[in-house]
Amino acid sequence: MSTVSERLLDPEDNTHTLVLFLSLRASELAGALMFSIFLPWQRVFAWFALISLVSVVRWLHVNSAAFTQRSKSQRKSVYRIYTWLLMAYVGSASYFLYVPENLPIQAVLGIYVLTNATLVAVRLTGDMLRTAGGLCLAVLPTCLRFIVEGYQGNQLLMLMGIGGICTAASMVAMSRTQELNVLRHAELLNRAERAADAVAAVGLAKSRFFAAVSHDLRQPVHAIGLYLETLQRLSCASAVSASHVAVAGIEESWRALDDLLSQVLDLTHMDSGLVEAHLEAVDVASMVRSTVMQHAGAAENAGVRLVMLVKTQCYMLADEVMLKRVVSNLLDNAIKFSEPGANIVIALRPDGLDWRLEVRDSGVGVGLEAQERIFEEFVQMNNQSRDRQRGLGLGLAISRRFVSLMNGRITLRSALGKGFCIGIVLPRTTTPSDIPLRRRLADGDPSLLLASRPEFPEDKRQILLLEDDLLVVNAMRQLLESWGLQVHVAGTGEQALQLSVRAQIVICDVRLPHGVSGVDIALFMRRNGKKVLLLSGETDNTLRDTAKLHHLQLLTKPISPQLLFEALQNV
Ligand code: ADP
Repeated sequence: MSTVSERLLDPEDNTHTLVLFLSLRASELAGALMFSIFLPWQRVFAWFALISLVSVVRWLHVNSAAFTQRSKSQRKSVYRIYTWLLMAYVGSASYFLYVPENLPIQAVLGIYVLTNATLVAVRLTGDMLRTAGGLCLAVLPTCLRFIVEGYQGNQLLMLMGIGGICTAASMVAMSRTQELNVLRHAELLNRAERAADAVAAVGLAKSRFFAAVSHDLRQPVHAIGLYLETLQRLSCASAVSASHVAVAGIEESWRALDDLLSQVLDLTHMDSGLVEAHLEAVDVASMVRSTVMQHAGAAENAGVRLVMLVKTQCYMLADEVMLKRVVSNLLDNAIKFSEPGANIVIALRPDGLDWRLEVRDSGVGVGLEAQERIFEEFVQMNNQSRDRQRGLGLGLAISRRFVSLMNGRITLRSALGKGFCIGIVLPRTTTPSDIPLRRRLADGDPSLLLASRPEFPEDKRQILLLEDDLLVVNAMRQLLESWGLQVHVAGTGEQALQLSVRAQIVICDVRLPHGVSGVDIALFMRRNGKKVLLLSGETDNTLRDTAKLHHLQLLTKPISPQLLFEALQNV
């Protein structure tokens, strides 16, 4: 692994522009012309020619393609040699450009060498050895000359020489400190970078793990859900009451497992950036009304009253499904933490240019110190025994992520024992939008529940199920057959193509053996006149977008029998 100093950019690497090169040479030429007034011109121009020659050779060398290909340490040693050589020539001005007995021009000489030394110090602080060597080679000959000359009677000259040496020494010290600071800073940056990389790697590994697990976990949970419908029917027909209790227990456990799985997966998907909000104008009153209806039973059981204060014709820019999930979570909590006889108010208020949808209760509330923590995962204030019936501690964590995905914010006012008022702030919009049936299906809208299931029409009775997971195949087959449908099962893409002649509707799993994609099969089947549905355990946006692009209906496992029935009816 490379060290910090190796990774730092060498300051010389990006200072070789032609303009800089020419302007330095021009200033040297101007200096030489000035000194030629006081000295024989051959001497002055010999110095100028010498320093220009080294500069030109250096410029050509370090700009050559071969040089830029060299390793950083090789380039550094070449820079170092050139710096020393050039500074030695700058220093040689004490011989070539020295005008005895002329103090003003000696001061100009002093300024010239000091300026060069300063340039070296400023530009090359990343390389201590090069800076110190360059400084000394540039300044010390002139300083020594001043001291020697001053010793013979000119005190001012002597002081200039001593001053020059002190300046060179302090520059060395300063650049040393500067270098240490730069290195320390780079080391800190380096550490922060490594830590950030490590965190990102853990996050990525986590989301990959959950993406993989999600697919595999969804399969059996999906299958159990499908079997349940048959079990329920059988148990209703049976007179054994123990079987009713057992089936009810299995159903409750399945729901708890499904709930936990969905919530944890929602969280990890959102954290890994796989979830996107589909923003549209949402009719707040109708969304709240349908959510309140869903909670009417729970409210009645808890003995609380749900009061809705939402004007009609008000629209929020939101993802309807996400917004409904958030309001549902907030209502769940309000009901759970209210005393019987209490009112829970759902009100819509203006908040600047936005709408604020508030859910307010007069229940136990939360103290100020815990108000930030309750938005963290698995944090619950009133459930020390972790009773699952009282929640999982994920509702607010998910709600906060949903709201931020919709570019909104959550507000909270509460005090211990004085109720809880939580608000969702989202932009106002004026255009109403139709809520597509797809959404209502995905959301399990109760108004879509059918009292008795109608028969499937003749042209929708032959189903080809392309699915490689046996557990799912058996559950689906049993369910579909119980609806009077005839099911043909294919485990691979090839089998599906062979069996397709018999089918009217094709239900395609997406991830198939041998790397075959269910999307390709579905598209092929559709081109050949079949009705198709995609059914997948994957919930990422790529699949959602692909399905949308090809106008394919995508259903996500685990899917309830009701939603599957609706999808088949409407395909
Ligand atoms: P849970 O599903 O367990 O309720 P949440 O994330 O929704 O998880 O809530 C986290 C915690 O926030 C709850 O355990 C409770 O302590 C507190 N909380 C949420 N809503 C309310 C409320 N309306 N009144 C009082 N406390 C609440």
